[in-house]
Amino acid sequence: MAVATYKPSGKMGWLGWVLGLEVGALVAIGLAYYYIAIRGNGRGPIVSIAMALFIGAAIGCVVGVLTRLGKSRSQLITGIIAVVCGVVALGAGFYFDYVSFGDWLAREAAREGGSVDEFRKVWTFPAYLKVRVEGGWQYGPSLADLEFSGAVVYLFWAIEAALFLLPAFFISRLFVRRSFCEACNCWTVEKPLGRVPGVQIASLIAGRESGSLTNLLDPEASRGGHQSIEYFLHYCPACNDTKFLSIGMPKGGLIKHEWVVRYATVTDADLELLEQSMAERKASVRNVLAMAGRNKPRLPGNNPI
Ligand SMILES: [Zn+2]
Repeated sequence: MAVATYKPSGKMGWLGWVLGLEVGALVAIGLAYYYIAIRGNGRGPIVSIAMALFIGAAIGCVVGVLTRLGKSRSQLITGIIAVVCGVVALGAGFYFDYVSFGDWLAREAAREGGSVDEFRKVWTFPAYLKVRVEGGWQYGPSLADLEFSGAVVYLFWAIEAALFLLPAFFISRLFVRRSFCEACNCWTVEKPLGRVPGVQIASLIAGRESGSLTNLLDPEASRGGHQSIEYFLHYCPACNDTKFLSIGMPKGGLIKHEWVVRYATVTDADLELLEQSMAERKASVRNVLAMAGRNKPRLPGNNPI
C-alpha cells in the first residue's frame, strides 16, 4: 500500500461561494468590457487571441485567490466557479459588443439621414446575432483578406470561449492545490527542510509505492548520481498535529519541482528520523571534503610529466 497522503475534503466555506461567484463575476464583467473595447479597435487576430487568453488566465487567478480565501478544498469546485465566471465574461462580452455595435450602426444611420429611433426599435439582441453571423467581420486593414462569416463565425466564438474557459479552469485550481488542516479550519504553511544530493529516485518511488516512510526519510544514496531532492514540511500553524511532507526534484524554469511525493502524512518521530538522516549525510559530506583537502587535487600545470 502506498504511503498515506493528504486527501482534500472537497469542502468550501460560504465565503468561497460568495467571493468566488459574485466578486469573480464582477471582475469577469469588468475584464470583458476592456476586451470588447480593445478588440473592437480592429487590432488583428493575434491581439484578440492574446487578450482572450489573458482574460481567461486573469479570471483563473482571481477565482483561485478568492476561493483560496474562502477555503476551497476542492480543485473541481474552484475550477467550475472559474468556468462560470468565464461564461459570465463571455455573456457580458456579447452584451458589450451588441451595445457598441448598435451605437456605431445608429451613428451611421443618422449620418445617412435615417431615423435613429427606428433603428433602435429593430436592433434587438437576436438581430445583432444575425448581423454578426451573416456579416461576419474582418480583421484590420493589413489583414483584409482574413474575413469570415456564416458558420466560421460560430467556430470563432467556440475558439474564443475555449480561450476564456480553459485557462480559467486550469489556472484557478493551482491556487487551492495545497494541504489544509480540517481540525483548525486553516491552510497549512510550507517550510523548506533542506536539500539532499545524490539520491536514488527509483528507491524513493519504490518506498512511496510500498508505503515505507523510512525509505523516503533516509533515502538510498546513488553511486555517482547527481540527482538531488528537496524536502518540504507543510504544517498547521494552529495545532501541532497536522503535518505533511513533500519531496521534490528541483527543476529549472516555471515548474520549480517535480514531485516524487506530495503531502505524505508524517509524525514528529518521522521528522526526527529525517533530521537525523540529513545530519548524518552532512557529516559524511564533511568527511569527504576533509579527505579531499588532505589529498590536494593536482591542478593542470602542476602535473608532473
Ligand atoms: Zn491544525
